[in-house]
Amino acid sequence: MDGQEQAGTATVERHEFGAEVGRLLDLVVHALYSEREIFLRELVANAADATDRRRFEALTDPSIGAVDSPAVRIVPDKPGRQLLIADSGIGMSREELAQNLGTIARSGTRAFGHKLAEAKPEERPSLIGQFGVGFYAAFMVAERVEVTSRRAGSDEAWTWASDGAGSYTLAPAERETPGTDIVLHLKPDAEEYLDPDRIEAVVRKWADHITVPITIARDGR
Ligand code: ADP
Ligand code: MG
Repeated sequence: MDGQEQAGTATVERHEFGAEVGRLLDLVVHALYSEREIFLRELVANAADATDRRRFEALTDPSIGAVDSPAVRIVPDKPGRQLLIADSGIGMSREELAQNLGTIARSGTRAFGHKLAEAKPEERPSLIGQFGVGFYAAFMVAERVEVTSRRAGSDEAWTWASDGAGSYTLAPAERETPGTDIVLHLKPDAEEYLDPDRIEAVVRKWADHITVPITIARDGR
């Protein structure tokens, strides 16, 4: 832990990103600007992966619990300029949040970072097709990202939050059921992603192959 802040009664821990995360974040946010709608593909793909993992783990581990009709929910909140992507997947523990979202342990992401750094600007968009850019793509459209997650089989929930500039925080949270909520506080120039029709178009274009049902809220709920 790098620091502690008091927020209400709960302790918020602040952690620095690994150096590689900072570099990759910069690359993703600046190099891929023209293709930034793919953030939604990445977040929906992660939600679908987590849903599949839960179904799979529930087969052998009774504590996990299967979900009757899992879905990925996308909920735009125009007045709050927030976009929620929620799943009832496997979820993440505190350690998994820190490991998965705070470090680059995955070779694919590291390789992408290297390729992207070497590529000419005009070559960069096509690299997206070859590598999943992953969770950090959220920072192309969001000035702040909050991930509240509860690992299936656990009662504990945690919120990971970051503005994508060097550090993230971890704080205890509540979540009624296992799964993950990703809340994007959108940048002023990314408000188009609060429009359900725009969201639907992006999902149809990029996430057509995803087998988990995806719902888009059209009334703010
Ligand atoms: P990748 O999907 O290629 O592994 P990402 O950057 O997209 O890379 O995601 C990093 C990791 O964070 C995932 O491998 C997964 O372990 C975790 N993760 C991301 N989103 C979710 C989610 N909605 N539910 C559970 N785990 C997630
Ligand atoms: Mg991913």
